[in-house]
Amino acid sequence: SPAPLWLFADQLGPHIHSSEDNAGRDVVLIESSAAIHRRNGHRQKAHLLLSGMRHLADELGDRAQYIRGVGYRDVLRELPGPVAVHEPTSRAAHAFVHRLANEGLVSEILPNPSFALPREDFEQWAGAHTSFRMETFYRQQRTRFDVLMDGDQPTGGTWNYDHENRKPPPKRRTLGVDKPWWPIEDAIDEQVRTDLDALNADWSGVDGPRLFAVTAEEAQAALRTFIDHRLETFGPYEDAIMGDDWTMSHSLLSVPLNLSLLDPLDVVHAAERATREDGVSLASAEGFIRQILGWREFIWHLYWHFGADYTASNELDATEPLPDWFRHLDADAVTARCLSDALSGVRDRGWVHHIPRLMVLGSHALQRGYDPAELTAWFTANFVDGYEWVMPVNVVGMSQHADGGLMASKPYTSGGAYINKMSDHCGDCEFDPKKRLGDDACPFTAGYWFFTHKHQKLLGDNVRTRRQVSNMNRLSDLDAVIEQERDRDRF
Ligand code: FAD
Repeated sequence: SPAPLWLFADQLGPHIHSSEDNAGRDVVLIESSAAIHRRNGHRQKAHLLLSGMRHLADELGDRAQYIRGVGYRDVLRELPGPVAVHEPTSRAAHAFVHRLANEGLVSEILPNPSFALPREDFEQWAGAHTSFRMETFYRQQRTRFDVLMDGDQPTGGTWNYDHENRKPPPKRRTLGVDKPWWPIEDAIDEQVRTDLDALNADWSGVDGPRLFAVTAEEAQAALRTFIDHRLETFGPYEDAIMGDDWTMSHSLLSVPLNLSLLDPLDVVHAAERATREDGVSLASAEGFIRQILGWREFIWHLYWHFGADYTASNELDATEPLPDWFRHLDADAVTARCLSDALSGVRDRGWVHHIPRLMVLGSHALQRGYDPAELTAWFTANFVDGYEWVMPVNVVGMSQHADGGLMASKPYTSGGAYINKMSDHCGDCEFDPKKRLGDDACPFTAGYWFFTHKHQKLLGDNVRTRRQVSNMNRLSDLDAVIEQERDRDRF
């Protein structure tokens, strides 16, 4: 009989354990206390991982062996023979699995099953490039997987509906769309909670009800609810933030996707059907498909392509350590509504949607020159969907420009005016987005000029940011703003 299949905690879906090649194998799941302690991240992430693994063992019944142990190697040594394993999702785990193969504990290393495009194919595409733009990759993916294509042309005649997908939030306090799918906790969750309490580990964040899907059935239900009731409004409001509506029209699928409970192409096809057959607007469906088939795959492949040293890139010489309030998710110590709200979301749920990550947390860190490697570790630890593979390119590249522009054409930051336009936070805030000087000067507005001043050479040399520098040079109070921001300790 074939070697049993050892599944990591982020390889839990039926397209893996019950694929044609794997259907005849027994399954081994190992709950390693050393791995749990090593992670030490958000309490709710630990819950999701353990709950997902234990639910799968329960679902597979006699086919699965669920083993609790200290380290993976010790557990594997006790098994009667070697196991097969799919390529894991981090560089460290990848090297580890290869060592296990050398030691005879792993007999087969199967390809990674969690992404649509195989790694060799990406390398072939990437070979000719020195810098990488998502849009080029995404068009290639659309063609390659024949998604939203009519022949060799994009459906609707254009690849990109971003211009239709930038609506500010409506004036009311919530978006008012149908609720997302929410899990109902069961006895397995209760046991996980008891076990995590007993571990007494140094978690970040607070515990709370489980908010994300951890079984294949739950993931399908979450996907269905999203496609049927929420996809239509995903596009227009994907760039907006609402203080009283943390989910807005986002899919909340990053956790089940990153646990590999869903095959990404199934998700993409469901969105494509919704626009082709069920009248969902093309702009919304395309916007969502772009996230999965474009961004998610792009980030994954670049993690491998850029190599191990990438996380240490620091082109902007950003060396500020994360302040204690940021590190400890102390949202109550923060005055700016947008920043406080984003931090409390991380503390209370380990999740905020894309725009608070990029436009608030990331932009703040960029303006203040936080160390990008430390920031990457912070994001990885504190987000329930954060894994080794997903953070370096999102944080070092996309949000901090610390790679000097390998995957984004300019540093991403904005002043308070943009946050004011795209969120409903500023009305309730003690800071004034229009002010750059004085006690009520918005830290993002003043921070924007502080950042521009510090990097004027780099920004002035880039056609996309040149004007930012000339605008700065017209500010009569620039010196006072810079001095104020150098000593700012109230955010
Ligand atoms: P939706 O807004 O509904 O988007 C659909 C899906 O697209 C997501 O579930 C996700 O799988 C995928 N996706 C979109 N953009 C990205 C991206 N840039 N990278 C990877 N997947 C993407 N995503 C993670 O999965 N894990 C992370 O740890 C993570 N950290 C991030 C850190 C920063 C600084 C930034 C700017 C982005 C990060 N993202 C991360 C991407 C994105 O913010 C989240 O995937 C998204 O907010 C998850 O919520 P959702 O499932 O409702 O997503």
